[in-house]
Amino acid sequence: MFSLDAPDIQTVGRLLAVPTDIVVTSHRNPDGDAIGSSLALQRFLRLMGHTVHVAFPSDYPYQLEWMPGIKECLIFDNEPEATTAHIQRAQLIFLLDFNDLSRIDKMGEVVAQTKAKRVMIDHHLYPEPCADVVFSDSTASSTAEMVFNFLMALGNPRFVDQEVVEHVFVGIVTDTGSFRFNTTPKLFRTVAGLIELGCRDVLIQNLIQNSMSVKQLKLIGHCITRRMELIEEHHTGIIWLSKRDYEEFDIQRGDTEGIVNYLMMLRDVRMAVLVMEQPNIVKLSFRSKGDISVQEICRTHFKGGGHKNASGGFTFASLRQTLDKLRALLPEYKAMLDAG
Ligand code: 5GP
Ligand code: MN
Repeated sequence: MFSLDAPDIQTVGRLLAVPTDIVVTSHRNPDGDAIGSSLALQRFLRLMGHTVHVAFPSDYPYQLEWMPGIKECLIFDNEPEATTAHIQRAQLIFLLDFNDLSRIDKMGEVVAQTKAKRVMIDHHLYPEPCADVVFSDSTASSTAEMVFNFLMALGNPRFVDQEVVEHVFVGIVTDTGSFRFNTTPKLFRTVAGLIELGCRDVLIQNLIQNSMSVKQLKLIGHCITRRMELIEEHHTGIIWLSKRDYEEFDIQRGDTEGIVNYLMMLRDVRMAVLVMEQPNIVKLSFRSKGDISVQEICRTHFKGGGHKNASGGFTFASLRQTLDKLRALLPEYKAMLDAG
């Protein structure tokens, strides 16, 4: 989809023909794909001579604080005025790894009010028409994979340096669960290209995967021994965390990442849900196997969305009500869950 002569690439190429003030945005609770995509794009555009800032609605997980450039990202929750000022000054805004301005909350309202041109690069289903140029590919493993192909298509390969490819690699590793899902021959070819360009794949995987704190490992133990519910009839596993758990285990951003995958390791679980009681909302994180669309469940019942096999959503209901609602929903999806 990214070829040099594609009209959309040419449009962006024209926008980047002169030094430009650019803001790169991504979604709330940025993960490796959101951060990797944003930092890769920022690095490339800076090497081109543009002025670039990355802005996220909320803070990044500490497991990724080793990434070059991450500490200078703007966090709207922490610095609303400075972030707003940068967005208002931008001539061009990139929207990465999300496809609806509501996914970046108040920052989205600021973005919506500026006259800057917007370019979206995203791999989620059902993009909203909220950008002037939209690159949307729900078959892509990650936004980072798309960003890499986009950068190569822009025709300045000398700016795709080691730092750029390592940021891209973080996004791909995160969103494919270390090459366990969303893989295609094309992706592996792309990754071979990253390594040829200097990506230190083993080092980066080590930094991503083996950076857990003792506290986080103990939290996993707690989830599995005390907070896990298996509903065999519907091939579903649930783990829930209450506000008290958040206090007791001092749960920080990033600590709950990956917990839902432990349920997926069970042979008989086809759908896994992590339910988290946060200060103002209850957040849900869904995973599924095969043809079960958790995207549909999140979109229909939890104001959310994402991908067919990995989606999220939220509710303003209490934790108990949310769990009851979730359990009550399962019979409605019996056919889908039984077929797997
Ligand atoms: P996670 O469960 O890892 O937080 O998110 C899984 C996928 O669902 C990601 O692609 C993420 O962007 C998407 N997602 C998570 N929460 C929400 C939400 O509240 N709304 C929408 N539209 N997508 C979400
Ligand atoms: Mn992604």
